Amino acid sequence: MTDDLIFRPVAELAALLDAKKISSVELLQAFAARTEAVDGRVKAFNSLDEAGALVLAAAADARRSTGQARGPLDGIPVGFKDVIAVDGQPLTCSSRMLANFVSPYDATVTTKLKAAGAIPFGRLNMDEFAMGSSTENSAFGPTANPWDLSRVPGGSSGGSAAAVAAGEVPLALGSDTGGSVRQPAALCGIVGLKPTYGLVSRYGLAAFASSLDQIGTFARNVGDAALLLGAIAGHDAHDSTSFPADIPDYRAELDRRKGPWRLGVPQEYFGAGLDPEVGAAVRQAIGFYREAGCEIKEVALPLAAEHAIAVYYLIATAEASSNLARYDGIRYGHRSAAATDAIDIYAKSRAEGFGEEVKRRIVLGTHVLSSGYHDAYYLRAQQVRTLIRGEYLRVFQDCDALLSPTTPTAAFKLGEKAADPLAMYLSDIYTIGVNLAGLPGISVPCGFTGGGLPIGLQVIGPPFGEAEMLAIARAYEQAHEWSSKHPKL
Ligand code: GLN
Repeated sequence: MTDDLIFRPVAELAALLDAKKISSVELLQAFAARTEAVDGRVKAFNSLDEAGALVLAAAADARRSTGQARGPLDGIPVGFKDVIAVDGQPLTCSSRMLANFVSPYDATVTTKLKAAGAIPFGRLNMDEFAMGSSTENSAFGPTANPWDLSRVPGGSSGGSAAAVAAGEVPLALGSDTGGSVRQPAALCGIVGLKPTYGLVSRYGLAAFASSLDQIGTFARNVGDAALLLGAIAGHDAHDSTSFPADIPDYRAELDRRKGPWRLGVPQEYFGAGLDPEVGAAVRQAIGFYREAGCEIKEVALPLAAEHAIAVYYLIATAEASSNLARYDGIRYGHRSAAATDAIDIYAKSRAEGFGEEVKRRIVLGTHVLSSGYHDAYYLRAQQVRTLIRGEYLRVFQDCDALLSPTTPTAAFKLGEKAADPLAMYLSDIYTIGVNLAGLPGISVPCGFTGGGLPIGLQVIGPPFGEAEMLAIARAYEQAHEWSSKHPKL
């Protein structure tokens, strides 16, 4: 029963709950047992709140028994990347700086999920402050890829992707600043969605690079991703960059939108650096759409291909250096016991509290913002960013979506790129442009390498084009079996 339950899509779990075939408490116990059995090897969770979750599950059961269930997410456990605030739970960002910090409030997405009856179930490992592509930058040790424990799950939301892939939770939240939801989803063989900038409130998401950060969803299939997105999207007065968009019923829209679509294939995304097995799987997926009657167009994104990584590492580090100034050892977070005066508290607390990669980014970001360099680096990067956005928007004048690989390679070995930051930065080459342009993107499984590692297809939509993008992704998913395959742990 348990093995059968833990890999079912949420829509099916909700039907079982409604039919009283199982209770929320039993469901939670099944996921807790699975986590107990596998997380010693996967290491997806930083912490778990099983007792708190059981109380909420019992409350969900009580609502159902009196006909007051709040919808399909009522009584469903959801994992949280350890960067999204849940009142009374740890919020560590996988950093020594916040190792003992407990959140005093709920993020807006948390408030919304609680209102839908979903149950926050544990805090998921990540690269420290979401900086990385492998989860190896966590101060608490890396997470492993459930398909091959000697490999990375991707990052920075590696714990979220691994937990869903391993059957420890049916849904999870992550954050995507340059690819941190789509890339780990691809490497773990699940669905990862990054919404349009401004669709989902960032209130209660610890900031990395505010003009790029968006909370995104991890799920077993596109239908579940649509369900979770619908529950967290919407305008929020607490986030000044939140957009007052109408939120459709994404789940219902899936059945209404049938194509055929005009799909652009950016030629630059299939050049040097793309692993041949990954390229072949993605080309096959494109072939599926062609056979289904879609118009496949070659498109060009030369500016994004050439400059997105450089522009991202100027803007993201600049914003990070400013956002992370708040961790000063005075207000909250780690304070050095060795400090003797105020300046010393700042210096030693930050020296002890932050890891290598975070320090590298603060130094780089402070440099590109410093007087004398600001115009040459930061301002220039913002100008190129605007051109990159324009390039994408022009392509969307005659395309409903773009298709590309999500990542250049399948999951790499733990330790393989840890000593080479530049090689690590290239893991996001196909995802980062989407963040610079503020677009939505989704990764869906599209096959396996000969060695049994998952491969992801990325579908990119125009701003606020989530409903169509989800339908395009689901058309592929429904014609293939990939999402029914699970790692053997
Ligand atoms: N890997 C990219 C980085 O290290 C993106 C991270 C993210 O999306 N949070 O910055």
